[in-house]
Amino acid sequence: MLKKLQIFLVLIVLLSISTTGIFCIYFLSQYSDKMNEQLLASASELFVREIDDGYGYKEASDICQTVFADESVNLRITVIAVDGVVLYDNQQAASTMENHADRQEVKAVLSSFGTATKKRHSATLDADMLYLARYYPDLNQVIRTSIPLKFYQAGVQKLQTTFAVVLTGAVILLAGVSYIFTKRLTRPLFELRNAAKSMSGANYSVRVHVNSHDEVGALSAAFNSMAEQLEKEVHELEEKNVRLAELQQMRSEFVANVSHELKTPLTSIRGFVDTLRNGSIEDKAVQERFLEIIDIEAERLHQLISDILQLSEIEGMETDLELQKFDLSALLDDVATLLDDKATERHVSIIVEDCENLPVLASKYRIKQILINLVDNAIKYNKPGGRVYIRATREPDKMIAIRVKDTGEGIPAEHLARVFERFYRVDKSHSREMGGTGLGLSIVKHIAQLYDGTAVAESQEGVGSTFTVRLHIADDLD
Ligand code: ADP
Repeated sequence: MLKKLQIFLVLIVLLSISTTGIFCIYFLSQYSDKMNEQLLASASELFVREIDDGYGYKEASDICQTVFADESVNLRITVIAVDGVVLYDNQQAASTMENHADRQEVKAVLSSFGTATKKRHSATLDADMLYLARYYPDLNQVIRTSIPLKFYQAGVQKLQTTFAVVLTGAVILLAGVSYIFTKRLTRPLFELRNAAKSMSGANYSVRVHVNSHDEVGALSAAFNSMAEQLEKEVHELEEKNVRLAELQQMRSEFVANVSHELKTPLTSIRGFVDTLRNGSIEDKAVQERFLEIIDIEAERLHQLISDILQLSEIEGMETDLELQKFDLSALLDDVATLLDDKATERHVSIIVEDCENLPVLASKYRIKQILINLVDNAIKYNKPGGRVYIRATREPDKMIAIRVKDTGEGIPAEHLARVFERFYRVDKSHSREMGGTGLGLSIVKHIAQLYDGTAVAESQEGVGSTFTVRLHIADDLD
């Protein structure tokens, strides 16, 4: 493309320079012919005037020679009678010259009695000449003036040489200029091509830097905006893919966890059923104990499945639609009462801290679930004689904070951030012993998120833990 453009440019300029040159040379030679004819005519007029003034042919032609020519040019003057006899010639003895009646210019003048010009070879002087013959009625003679063609043809030749030199120079100059020009013209195109190539190699950050205000500039701008759009979309797609992969990973981890969690109680149940079946246990009390264990494991399975169902239900919701107005402080008392037996069993006391009426708008069932899970944990992971404090307070921006504080074993700092993850337990066997599923806090966190809220844990090992859940549920008029 670059080469073609350069050759094309050189050809165009070559053509235009040579046509101009040829025309120039043609018109110049035409012009110089005209000028020389005028010179010959003036010389002829002057010669005749000098004759009129009484000068002889020789004197008159000498005067003409000094007026119209210099040493390098010989102005030839010939006086011819109307019958063609040469009466005088300033360059040849007239007597030696043949009759000129048949000379083309003389012939033409004698037939028209006017003026005639002719370019031809002179037999007398053996040179190419320009002739001008004019008939003068007063003299009844033809005066023929002439100059050698080579006198002014040399000028034309000189012009041709100059022209050839100029043409060569112009071509060289042009080749250079066109090289630089086309290079500059095509540079952005090359840049565009390279950018497109590297983009096809999945490099979307590539941009072209062309600032011209022409079509190429517009093309580059369009290319850049396309690249930008593509980069953005590819980036989004990559992010989506990463998220999808993460989700996939989470899902398969969850399935693996669930299967594992289900397997433990099931194995235990089957073990006890087998033992009872083969009849080796005869002691009624032991048999009763085995059945009791089977019942506990079955209850654990039931709890696990209901927690999983609850969790997946909350996860699938954007917002809770089953909203109702109720007093949160009353719910706190209800939950305390509900778990009072369990607390007593473990020698733990529940203290609902004094609080005003707290009207809220939420699903009573889900808020109750939060409270049960937190208070249940606070009892389970407490020490005998320990206490559980429950409190709910109003916070700015229609937020309600629920705090459940215990004087239990606490959570080591390295586990604190992870207790809200599914199936995460600090002490697996202890949790199992307590009938935990490892999903309680995960459910709390998901419900909090459903109400634009947060769930955080603070703890000090050996001193106790505080769980704070903030929810956007306050239903007051301010
Ligand atoms: P689990 O069914 O095991 O109780 P949770 O999701 O409710 O599952 O809790 C996750 C883990 O966090 C528990 O196994 C326990 O190790 C720890 N944990 C939760 N609440 C408390 C608490 N009040 N005090 C100490 N540890 C707690």
